Amino acid sequence: MLTDTILVINCGSSSLKFSLICPQTGETLLNGLAERLSSESAELKYSFQNNKQVTSLPAPFDHQAAIDVLVNILKQHQLVEKVSAVGHRVVHGGEKYALPTRVDEQVKQTIAELAKLAPLHNPANLIGIEACEKAFKHLPQVAIFDTAFHQSMPEKAYIYGLPYSLYQEHCIRRYGFHGTSHYFVASQAAKLVNKPIESCNFISAHLGNGCSVSAVKNGKSVDTTLGLTPVEGVMMGTRSGDVDPGIIFHLINQLGYSAEQVNHLLNKESGLLGVSQLSNDCRELETAMFEQDHAGAKLALEIFCYRIAKAIAGFTASLTELDGIIFTGGIGENSSFVREQVLTQLSLLGVEIDPDKNEATRFGKSGVITTAQSRAAWVIPTNEEWVIAEQTQQILSAE
Ligand code: ADP
Repeated sequence: MLTDTILVINCGSSSLKFSLICPQTGETLLNGLAERLSSESAELKYSFQNNKQVTSLPAPFDHQAAIDVLVNILKQHQLVEKVSAVGHRVVHGGEKYALPTRVDEQVKQTIAELAKLAPLHNPANLIGIEACEKAFKHLPQVAIFDTAFHQSMPEKAYIYGLPYSLYQEHCIRRYGFHGTSHYFVASQAAKLVNKPIESCNFISAHLGNGCSVSAVKNGKSVDTTLGLTPVEGVMMGTRSGDVDPGIIFHLINQLGYSAEQVNHLLNKESGLLGVSQLSNDCRELETAMFEQDHAGAKLALEIFCYRIAKAIAGFTASLTELDGIIFTGGIGENSSFVREQVLTQLSLLGVEIDPDKNEATRFGKSGVITTAQSRAAWVIPTNEEWVIAEQTQQILSAE
């Protein structure tokens, strides 16, 4: 029986994901999600590792109530004593946090101040931390920042071509996100090439609803496509990725958009959804393209794959060696079509896809998808929760 587990909390503005994880093995004992919090249809679902049945509870009113329900579930199953700490996913750590950090009043204040850079995420993350502090008074709380892995980027990668004073006075720079995921898949790929992570060079593509590509040199992030906010870089489900900034002024000055409408357009109405005029969901678009020859779906997927390939090719400028390319996230792990489209545009990098291996790798499977003579590309399912549990454990062991 496990004695030391970490409760991992990922708190969004109206949702709360939780898992109880063994940091040594990654084994997940309990998994759950509270959704639509603070609304009439709020709901909490959870399941245990040994019992795939999902239990659904109605209306825990807000985050604190959802945490209270979680405490009761843990008590009912004699799991409270087995929790040694709580690890929180925090989206923005700014330049202050490059490492997992034990939460105290000062850390909470900094997370609150950094809300100016992540207004949708940091306040929600803080609500999760404060709710857990109340519910688990005796347990250490640790913050794991999504930006932390990218703090190793050199200045040339994170400074924008803007007046330098904007960086000095207002912290405007590239921070990057999905750091925990890029770190996890890079460390797994290091095992595949049988080298210490410190001597590994990869380009990783995290492709989910949000997408980013990162260059990892000697085990450290040296560049990434997401920027000050999670809208830059490759095209995503509903986010545009890179656009000419002049378009924003055209929309405002010529077409009468307000700043808020432009923000909404770029974050919620663009990307796969905007181009296809059908859906932000990659699976739906593939079905529409293959079964109905849907022109919008075809174009959206074409742009999506081309931009990922361009980002991967671009990051060869950041590296002197490349051990391989990694695909992860819901699309990266499951869409053999997207992987094939991306990799066939990278033949100049010596990449040759193996169609059978590519087709066979999905639904949580990990593996190489290129031929024996090719530069390697792998699918590696991400596991951010495990990293959070592991890093939480490490920080406590080091104290
Ligand atoms: P999030 O970024 O919200 O965590 P996920 O990593 O779960 O999102 O990725 C969601 C995306 O993965 C959606 O676009 C979904 O269509 C896509 N996806 C999941 N399964 C498949 C599949 N079998 N084929 C293609 N795309 C898939």
